[in-house]
Amino acid sequence: MHVEIVTIGDELLLGFTVDTNAAQLARELAAAGIEVVRRATVGDEADQIASAVGEALERTGAVITTGGLGPTADDRTKASIAALFGRGMRLDETILDGLRARWAARGWPGELPAANREQAMLPEGARVLVNRHGSAPGVWLEDDRGRWVAMLPGVPREMRGMTADELLPLLGARAGGAAATVIRSRTLRTTGIAESALADRLGDIARSVDGMNVASLPGFEGTDLRITARGLAADAAEAALDAGIARLRERAGPFVYGDGADDLAAVVLDACRDRRFTIAVAESCTGGLLGGRLTAIPGSSDVVLGGVIAYSNAVKEHLLGVPPEVLAAHGAVSEPVALAMAAGVRASLGADVGVSITGVAGPGGGTAEKPVGTVWVAVDVRGRSRAVRPMIVGDRDEIRRRAAQGALDLVRRALADDDR
Ligand code: ATP
Repeated sequence: MHVEIVTIGDELLLGFTVDTNAAQLARELAAAGIEVVRRATVGDEADQIASAVGEALERTGAVITTGGLGPTADDRTKASIAALFGRGMRLDETILDGLRARWAARGWPGELPAANREQAMLPEGARVLVNRHGSAPGVWLEDDRGRWVAMLPGVPREMRGMTADELLPLLGARAGGAAATVIRSRTLRTTGIAESALADRLGDIARSVDGMNVASLPGFEGTDLRITARGLAADAAEAALDAGIARLRERAGPFVYGDGADDLAAVVLDACRDRRFTIAVAESCTGGLLGGRLTAIPGSSDVVLGGVIAYSNAVKEHLLGVPPEVLAAHGAVSEPVALAMAAGVRASLGADVGVSITGVAGPGGGTAEKPVGTVWVAVDVRGRSRAVRPMIVGDRDEIRRRAAQGALDLVRRALADDDR
């Protein structure tokens, strides 16, 4: 099945709101085997809405809109699309009663404002898409040639809820239920290797594996590999994805840290938890980013003891016990200092694992010997330590984020190697 998406709202055109609805819808529809063939965004004007939806109906005959269902004067979606179908508007008493009950249940003062009655107006012959997450109901309108428009709310949470609760079951039924094919994707997450080097490792399966496209998606935290199965029934798609991911995982080897939306910080916390290890962090150029990544994960308190932001040499010396002669001989951004920081924070906080970062985040402070982007990360696991200098490029923000990811990856690898 092919559909078009029309997202509605002046704020989308002005760039104040990022159009996450279209992306989210496209992903959800693809997972259900429905292909989005075109997307458009228009302002709140009735004629803009009517022309975009009208063209999409002519072309594809299946349109999903988001936005403009609310009670305010700039919410014109329903009326302009009703006009397109040659239908009038009528008041739906059931919806109005529901809106009144919702108003009263919330303990809001007075009667339901007259403007809210707008939300109870429906095009003649429309079907209601129930909104369990907000007040504005969605609308399904279909003509006698089977061409249809589904109007969803603009608020992303309401849009997502209505898509799952109402729209997808409806489209699934139209497509013939179980016989339908799906479009499904799976992601493998790698870090610590350049995208080009990863492609070399993957060799003949870098672009396609078992007939499925491989998308290589580089980001701050590494390169994700995403494969997509199309045109298969759900079970067959899952089996193909399992096999494809297994082949990619084997080739990418130690650079793989997870799949789906896995966060490396959570992977590290789990690895520590499995061993009943605690962790402490010592950060110079990242100034707390690493501690932030770890403590952003719910439940981190049973593993993370704390950390030291050792920005100045004095703090490295006095709180972490980095010997002044090591600092003088090698400079703050060096392997020996990174190792001393990791050992020092482990000792002073009484942790099993100490991890450290020291580097030149720029834009100033670089030298010929230690250019901007020079970073050392070190880990000390119960006295066994190692340090690496990850290859890092980018601006200050990128360098700091990549340094934190590099430190997490070093901990992951140190713990995994310890098991061997
Ligand atoms: P409401 O009942 O709140 O008026 P609505 O269906 O009329 O809902 P809009 O008024 O168009 O929706 O948008 C409400 C809010 O939802 C916007 O302020 C914006 O923050 C968000 N929003 C709207 N469209 C999108 C979109 N395409 N992507 C992401 N967010 C959106």
